[in-house]
Amino acid sequence: MRQTRKLSSQELLKKNVLDAGLCTGCGACVNLCPYQVIYRDRTVQLHSCDLSDGKCYAFCPRSSTDLSVLRKSLFPQADVTPEIGVVKGYYLSRAADSNLRERAQHGGTITALMELALAEGLIETAIVSSSERQVNVPVAIKSKDDLLQNSQSRFTVSPTVATFHEIAAENIAKIGVVATPCQALALAKIKTYTDKDASLKKDKLKLVVGLFCGWTLARDKFTELLKMNNIDESAVVGMEIPAGKGILEIYTPQGNRTIPMKEVENCIREACRYCVDSTAEYADVSVGAARFGNDWEEMRKWNQLIVRTEAGSDLIDLAVARGVLEIKEAPSEILKELKKAALEKKKVAMKNIVAKSGRENNLLYLNSNDSLIKGLLKRSGRKK
Ligand SMILES: Cc1cc2nc3c(=O)[nH]c(=O)nc-3n(C[C@H](O)[C@H](O)[C@H](O)COP(=O)(O)OP(=O)(O)OC[C@H]3O[C@@H](n4cnc5c(N)ncnc54)[C@H](O)[C@@H]3O)c2cc1C
Ligand code: SF4
Ligand code: SF4
Repeated sequence: MRQTRKLSSQELLKKNVLDAGLCTGCGACVNLCPYQVIYRDRTVQLHSCDLSDGKCYAFCPRSSTDLSVLRKSLFPQADVTPEIGVVKGYYLSRAADSNLRERAQHGGTITALMELALAEGLIETAIVSSSERQVNVPVAIKSKDDLLQNSQSRFTVSPTVATFHEIAAENIAKIGVVATPCQALALAKIKTYTDKDASLKKDKLKLVVGLFCGWTLARDKFTELLKMNNIDESAVVGMEIPAGKGILEIYTPQGNRTIPMKEVENCIREACRYCVDSTAEYADVSVGAARFGNDWEEMRKWNQLIVRTEAGSDLIDLAVARGVLEIKEAPSEILKELKKAALEKKKVAMKNIVAKSGRENNLLYLNSNDSLIKGLLKRSGRKK
C-alpha cells in the first residue's frame, strides 16, 4: 500500500492558505524563522522546512480555528452577539484634541488611545502601519509625535503581525498593536497558544486596538488602477470612502482625485471575499467610521467604538478620565445598522467559501462543527 507522507506546517500553509487564495497578508507566519518573508503584499516561502508543528500554520488566521473555543478563552462569561462578537460597550467617540482629529482618518480615537497607552506606560511600543507613501509597512513606535505622523488609513495590507514577532523577540515587555480583524485573529491565536516554547513572547501583547474592515486592496492591481487614472502613487497622502457617494477620494498635494468604487472593487484582495469579520471581533476595543445620518462632514470626525475586554474597558475609562477622548452613547439604530452590515459580510463570505470548496461541510479555514459557525450557517439560510 502506498504510504502518504504527512505534510509539514509550511506545506499546509502553502496548500491550504497561499495556493487557495486565502492569505490576508497579515504577517503572522513571518519573522518566526528565516524561511518566510513578505514581498510587497505577498507571502513568499524562500526555503522549505519539514517541521510538523510550525507556528507559521498555527498562528495563521486562515488555518483551521474553532472560533467558539478561542472566544471562550479570551472573553470568559461574555455576552456574544452573532454579528459583531462580544460587546461590553458601544459608543460614538473622538479625540478631544482637535489638531489630532484634523490629522486622523476619522475621529482620531485610535491614535488618541495608542498615545494614552504609551504615555501611561501601559505599553512601551505601539505597532501601527507606516504612512510612508501607500506601500504600507508596519512600524514600531515609542513616541507620541510618531504616532500622529502614522495616523490615517491605508487601504493596502500592512503585515503588522510580522513586526509583532520581531519586536517581541527584543527586550520590550509591553506591546500594543493596531490591527485589522484578520490580524487581530492571528494575535488572538498567538495569545491562546499553549506551547511552552520559550521563544514565544505572547505575554508581551498587552493591547490590541482593532480596525473595522470591509476589505483591503491587492497592491499590484491598485498600483495599476492609480496609473490608469494618471495618479502618481508616491504623491498620495490619504484616501477616504465618503458615505453614500460610491467613490474613493484620493488626496495629493496637487489636489483631490476620485475613482468610482466599481473600479476600486476590482482590486479587492481575493482573501477578503472569504472573511467573516468586519469589526475586529478578537480585539480589546474596535474602532470604525461613523457612517450614518445625513451629515457625513459632521460624522466623518467621529468613530464607532466597541469595547470588548476588561483591558479595553479600563483603557476607555482612563481615556475619558484623562480628557483625551470624548464619548457619547450611540443611538440604537446605529448599532442595528452596524449589525446588519456585519451580518451581510458574513453571509457573503459563507456563500463564497461554500462556492470555493464546493461542499457545505467544507468551510475551508472555518470549522463546520464550531457552534458559532453552525449558527452563522443557519442565519445564512444554508443549513437547518
Ligand atoms: C484596510 C482598511 C479597511 C477599513 N474598512 C473600514 C470599513 O469598512 N468600515 C469602517 O467603518 N471602517 C473601516 N476602516 C477603519 C477606518 O478607516 C479608520 O481606521 C477608523 O475609523 C479609525 O479612525 P481614526 O480616526 O480613529 O484613525 P487614526 O487615528 O487615523 O488611526 C488609524 C490607525 O490605523 C493604522 N492603519 C492605517 N492603515 C492600516 C492598515 N492597512 N493596516 C493596519 N493598520 C493600519 C494607522 O497606522 C493608525 O494607527 C478600515 C481601515 C482600513 C485600514
Ligand atoms: S494569512 Fe497571514 S499567516 Fe497566513 S499565510 Fe498569509 S501572511 Fe501568513
Ligand atoms: S476583509 Fe478580512 S481578510 Fe481582508 S483585510 Fe479586512 S480583516 Fe483581513
